[in-house]
Amino acid sequence: MDFGRFGQAPAGSRIGYENGKIEVPADPVVPFLRGDGVGPDIWKATQRVLDAAVAKSFGGKRRIAWFEIYAGGVAKEKFDEWLPAESVDAIKHFRVAIKGPLTTPIGGGIRSLNVALRQILDLYACVRPVRWFQNVPSPVKRPQDVDIVIFRENTEDVYAGIEWPAGSPEAARVAALIAELGKDVRAGSAIGIKPVSEFGSKRLVRKAIQFAIDQKRPSLTLVHKGNIMKFTEGAFRDWGYEVAREEFGDRTITEEEISKGAAAGGRLVVKDRIADSMFQQSLLRPAEYSVLATTNLNGDYLSDALAAQVGGLGMAPGSNESDEFAVFEATHGTAPKYADLDKINPGSLILSGAMMLHHLGWHEAAVAVESAMAKTLAQKIMTYDLARQTEGAREVGTSAFGEALVANL
Ligand code: NAP
Repeated sequence: MDFGRFGQAPAGSRIGYENGKIEVPADPVVPFLRGDGVGPDIWKATQRVLDAAVAKSFGGKRRIAWFEIYAGGVAKEKFDEWLPAESVDAIKHFRVAIKGPLTTPIGGGIRSLNVALRQILDLYACVRPVRWFQNVPSPVKRPQDVDIVIFRENTEDVYAGIEWPAGSPEAARVAALIAELGKDVRAGSAIGIKPVSEFGSKRLVRKAIQFAIDQKRPSLTLVHKGNIMKFTEGAFRDWGYEVAREEFGDRTITEEEISKGAAAGGRLVVKDRIADSMFQQSLLRPAEYSVLATTNLNGDYLSDALAAQVGGLGMAPGSNESDEFAVFEATHGTAPKYADLDKINPGSLILSGAMMLHHLGWHEAAVAVESAMAKTLAQKIMTYDLARQTEGAREVGTSAFGEALVANL
């Protein structure tokens, strides 16, 4: 198939989509965006590790046909566009993609390429698994207790971007309407609106519950600020419990039912926590939490706070997903000062690649990557960011870290 200025996709098959599930051939075409800044360095190491893991796990019977597509600074340079239509077409066609960090355009047009991709493809769930690997420096005493996957709603709440500046005629009109509805807004205020829908909340929680059940996780926690915002945050919690009860009734049980004496009996325990309490719990008793489903802003803060406990930016993988499409990504930025120095930690993109392999159902290869990461760090082979905080570490560059993983597969 021809993708305009990007040319032909490589030989391989398209991932299918049937009855709400992807169908993965033995040779899927997967579009990738190298990204800007440190992107090319971390992509090179990542591709090397993923290909080696797939080859080793499936003895050459499966392979990924990588298809390079472009966005960000490199696309601006090559095609004079930040987000060429061919890139969106390719992701829509092939359904799963992986990306390095992209330079955010300053001024004009697109607010952020990541936001644009999320909106165009309706990638409604931002998924962030957070776990610790031995020897990774951590500011907490027991980082090994953190093994939490966050499902953060990606399209509503503050990310809907509905706001008007203080003193603008729009803000004045909205304030007048609010006054008509019997509520007060201080004169001259900026106004932002936070929509939270039943549809948006339920599909996010549904995805999180399905994941928790598939992965045999013990609990799912609905995180919200419903004590203050009853009709948005509180409704998110209520709709979440409704999905659990109505769609997964035989496979879930609530914490409340357990507190009244019911036995979990292998079912997923569904509970909820107010956001501020959840932050405290994530530091004091992280072992009691496994999968979190959150509204947008709470999830934004929690994802980074939890990632900080297990090694920070260089080690935090993530994805943005709908039912049909998924884009796996390095969660850090382009770190331009380290571009082309073969220095930066490729851990975030490599672990995102492992998430992608799980998503394809190629669990053996995914687990191989995760185990190789654990083994390499256990040997104290590390890039500068971790090595500078670890006694006795052997500091290596990006590509050597990738090679160490390949050797440990
Ligand atoms: P950044 O690129 O994430 O880098 C900030 C600092 O974080 C780096 O200087 C480095 O700290 C550390 N760091 C980041 N990635 C690392 C890695 N893989 N390994 C080790 N350390 C790492 O943030 P920024 O400088 O604010 O943003 C630069 C550009 O990236 C901007 O254009 C921004 O808009 C864009 N951005 C893109 C994305 C995305 O595409 N997903 C996300 C965020 C930002 P030290 O110098 O202390 O070692």
